[in-house]
Amino acid sequence: MDGIQKMSIEFGCEPANESFARVAVAAYAARLNPTVEEVSDIKTAVSEAVTNSIIHGYYGIPEGRITVECAIKGDRLMVSVTDKGVGIEDINKAKEPMYTTRPELERSGMGFVFMEAFMDEVTVESTAGKGTIVKMSKKITSDEQIDDDLSMAVGYN
Ligand code: ATP
Ligand code: MG
Repeated sequence: MDGIQKMSIEFGCEPANESFARVAVAAYAARLNPTVEEVSDIKTAVSEAVTNSIIHGYYGIPEGRITVECAIKGDRLMVSVTDKGVGIEDINKAKEPMYTTRPELERSGMGFVFMEAFMDEVTVESTAGKGTIVKMSKKITSDEQIDDDLSMAVGYN
């Protein structure tokens, strides 16, 4: 991923790491002074993408590793979530509302819909048997007024 101030984290596909990943990205994004709503949107989108890598990409592959990268380009936060799991056969179908291959887990098939709703851009690249990369970006409005409160809330100061 291009961009200055890039950060990248890699972690195992155990479910506990979903909350780790979304908090890590929120903490990184704090330097852009996002609004509380923007932080919430980012956390939701990261959570959906990482959960997908865990429950779909690495289904039956407990040793799977996930990489999350972030960068800042101007006033935009760029985030990518990469796994080397089973991949997606038909990306357009996967993005449809209520499409899920895991109905037995009571998944609602809304993950990609949420990512697209909460971020400005979402692109998915995937190869069956090789893995998936979800790239997302969001313009941050830089709310100076809540800067201090928010920094404290995410533990950035
Ligand atoms: P929900 O997110 O609402 O719990 P879901 O995960 O099934 O349900 P989406 O997140 O929209 O819904 O994903 C749709 C489908 O795309 C999944 O059911 C799965 O088949 C496929 N998919 C998504 N991400 C991945 C991934 N990283 N690796 C493999 N398949 C994936
Ligand atoms: Mg999902």
